[in-house]
Amino acid sequence: MLIRNATLAEGDTRDVRVSGERIAAVGDGLDADDERVLDATGKRLLPGMIDVHVHFRQPGFGHKETWETGTKSAAAGGVTTVVDQPNTEPPTVDGAAVDEKLGYAEQAHIDFGINGGVTADWEPATLFDRPLFALGEVFLADSTGEMGIDTSLYAEALEQAREHDVTVTVHAEDETLFNESARERDDADAWSAYRRPQAEQEAVRRACELATERDIQIHVAHTSTPEGIDIAAEHGMTCEVTPHHLFLSREYLSELGTHGVMNPPLRRDTLRSRVYERVADGTVDMIATDHAPHTAEEKDVGVWDAPSGVPGVETVLPLLLVEAERGRLSYERVRDLTAATPADVFDLPDRGRVREGNYADLVLVDPDAVTEIRADALHTNCPWTPFEGWDGLFPEWTMVRGEQVFERDADEPFGDPRGQNVRTTEE
Ligand SMILES: [Zn+2]
Repeated sequence: MLIRNATLAEGDTRDVRVSGERIAAVGDGLDADDERVLDATGKRLLPGMIDVHVHFRQPGFGHKETWETGTKSAAAGGVTTVVDQPNTEPPTVDGAAVDEKLGYAEQAHIDFGINGGVTADWEPATLFDRPLFALGEVFLADSTGEMGIDTSLYAEALEQAREHDVTVTVHAEDETLFNESARERDDADAWSAYRRPQAEQEAVRRACELATERDIQIHVAHTSTPEGIDIAAEHGMTCEVTPHHLFLSREYLSELGTHGVMNPPLRRDTLRSRVYERVADGTVDMIATDHAPHTAEEKDVGVWDAPSGVPGVETVLPLLLVEAERGRLSYERVRDLTAATPADVFDLPDRGRVREGNYADLVLVDPDAVTEIRADALHTNCPWTPFEGWDGLFPEWTMVRGEQVFERDADEPFGDPRGQNVRTTEE
């Protein structure tokens, strides 16, 4: 296939030849061989997003999301690789659990990675016997809630990660610093008051210090405060910001109610705008969604009972592309945040850029096609979105390793599942 006259992230107009799974050539005035020619004049051709933080819920919670619905949703939003986190049932903490999850992932429409979890019951020997993407998200906490681990187990995880040459992704909130007086309230904003910014900042500091002492690289998940981002950067660690922490704030909670409850929680708009500055100036390494769907029934309960998390994998790139189109972020910055830097940090050298030799993981976008985000038009199993009514620039099509896995205007927008584990494809 020859894609003619596409505008790349850098702003140059180029022809891009896709041959088999790879980008065979990027150039000017390429001669068409016996191949399909697609005119992309006036359109943007970008690398597909690599979202290193999703919760696709299977095994255990398929009523919230399945690998099929989650990866279709991702494909329709321009995401070509996702990384699934281990808090499924069973949790992905041993080799058998990885194998079980890989069985569900046979329904994947895009490529994926599987993170290995760390709990008191984990089995590093069988876990590292499987093709893991990374360890994470590791929840460093001294209290013994759900998947929280203490300092000695965290240290063991760091050592194992070093030995097996993978990154550790850390969920950094110190539960001992939560504001207990907020528990007396029952409005949705109480969640933000409870899990206050200091709890994140001190946990990021501690996670980074323990890693620095051992000379190990960690990746800090979903930083939600400017201080948390700066502490990670000062330690030479990478971090991600979610679309909800980039675009939403506590001020939205009166409207969102418990649908706006997630961890870490939404912050005040003054903090959010300083997070945005760090996303724009390059201090933040990447955007990742923490896509964490729940049914409306599960969310429509009191603030102290509502499960944490919001969907985001289908709307993240469309929201960022609107920012690029309106000049608030450059297209290059969006490319780096969503594709090039995640590929660099997580060792996917053949992905994340429109460049000769790379896998043809691509999205085509018509800059004039801004539409309103509507939950009922999305492909996730989650029937609501915190971005209802926002502007989104959705891709016309999404390609994974040379095959269009989503075509918006086709009678059958999706093909057959063909996703592969990125740790077993050849990079
Ligand atoms: Zn998460």
